[in-house]
Amino acid sequence: MKRKSLIYKTGVEYGDYTLNHALGCSHGCRYPCYAYMMAKRFGNVKSYEEWIQPQIVENTLELLRQELPRFKDKIQQLHLCFTTDPFMYEHDEIARMSIKVLQEANAQGIRCSVLTKGLLPECLVTLSRENEYGITVVSLNDHFIHEYEPGAAPIQARIQALRFLHDSGCKTWVSIEPYPTPNIVEQNLADILDAVSFVDKIIFGRLHYNRMVTEYDGYQSYYNQCVTRVIDFCTHHEIAYHIKTGTLQAKEAN
Ligand code: SF4
Repeated sequence: MKRKSLIYKTGVEYGDYTLNHALGCSHGCRYPCYAYMMAKRFGNVKSYEEWIQPQIVENTLELLRQELPRFKDKIQQLHLCFTTDPFMYEHDEIARMSIKVLQEANAQGIRCSVLTKGLLPECLVTLSRENEYGITVVSLNDHFIHEYEPGAAPIQARIQALRFLHDSGCKTWVSIEPYPTPNIVEQNLADILDAVSFVDKIIFGRLHYNRMVTEYDGYQSYYNQCVTRVIDFCTHHEIAYHIKTGTLQAKEAN
């Protein structure tokens, strides 16, 4: 599969520009995945089965070499990725391409942020120390993870890979998003926070587009309590944090 262009501006807080060098994602998250919903709506994939068979963008490096010089003075931080996963579990061809993308961007003086539900490779320690490496952790419960992120890496392995990068001096972060309500999985947010307390930054956000959330009586109060817990934890441990828009609300919405 080839594309006509790669880098584009985005409104997400991880980076002001992003690129997606694959279509689809084998992690197949059932939150549901917003990228999958959009790909289906716009006819880029026909089914979930097609979505979880990722296709790499074959002309990624060719496009990058054309686009990076043009964008390099505008980009504050290039995010990998917005509509796919750069270190898709057990998809080495995508991981290899992601490393090349990071190398090309860094060579132009562009710092990058990465977010994955796969395993961050150890070789990332050799890249720019301005890069920020993140993983998603919405639960430590393997059964739940297997159900909700069926193709993603086991959670402890994900955390260990991130820990290695942290211990090697890289900037690391965790996205606790989309965080489920207790009727979806019973768990203690404090356990998750403790498991990732070594990171430099935590992003927390609620689960959207899922009826089970709004069916949970008092879901907004619940999310408000979670936000307070995240802020208290981060303040105490001197960790930067960001609460996603729409997670904290002044009034009960249900
Ligand atoms: S890892 Fe991200 S892109 Fe992949 S299926 Fe899950 S939510 Fe979608």
